[in-house]
Amino acid sequence: MRKPFVAGNWKMNTDNHSSVSLADEIASATFGIVSHGIHVAVIPPFVYLQAVTRVLSASNVAVGAQDVYHESNGAFTGEISASMLKDVGCVYVLCGHSERRHVIGETDELISKKVAAAIRGGLLPIFCVGELLAEREASQTTEVVTRQIRSGLAGLSAEKVSAVTIAYEPVWAIGTGLTASPQQAQEVHAMIRKLLGEMYDAQLADEIRILYGGSVKPGNAAELMCERDVDGLLVGGASLNANDFVAIIRAAV
Ligand code: PEP
Repeated sequence: MRKPFVAGNWKMNTDNHSSVSLADEIASATFGIVSHGIHVAVIPPFVYLQAVTRVLSASNVAVGAQDVYHESNGAFTGEISASMLKDVGCVYVLCGHSERRHVIGETDELISKKVAAAIRGGLLPIFCVGELLAEREASQTTEVVTRQIRSGLAGLSAEKVSAVTIAYEPVWAIGTGLTASPQQAQEVHAMIRKLLGEMYDAQLADEIRILYGGSVKPGNAAELMCERDVDGLLVGGASLNANDFVAIIRAAV
């Protein structure tokens, strides 16, 4: 059985005070829910990780980071390693988020190194994939997502990949207010699960969690979660409002 998972990506938002109060509000509002068969994580900016981890230490809400560098230490100015993230209490890390692919310019090859480094460092990667609008319109969604998954997981054994959560986030739906329909999400999630079955085995394909992300709101979370292969939600904008994020978590239980 795949346990639902809802993660909130705060991106480059919040400040010292609001990151702590948002985490605190989420922890209090989810106290009774989260132990009931759902995993929840918040993903603050690097500089607030420690403060947020401290606030959430007695809760069931885990903390993730928005990125990781693939080297373990050394002369890599500005970068953060998996062991550093682990050291401050991170459990999860985003790898290959669309903003890192398309705004910062990360390649499939770099993202693959990051997924491997995260697993090596004891973190649970949330590995993001998804097509651009032009790629969807050109009927290239399967081709693009297949390439991203094959490349991102290259060289990893089934045992290592079992630490990974996949997030399907169509780029045209991120931060745009356009959400994939539940059928569109299900179609791609089922394709990803089938691909993982071919790359690894049926057990891994059955057990791995595949989240949907892209303008998830309290009003569309439940219908997305009704789909057979949608195991959870990666939430951006709506995770910055405690009431909205908690409503999404409730819809996913
Ligand atoms: C995201 O940042 O992963 C995301 C899905 O953002 P939004 O929910 O704002 O579209």
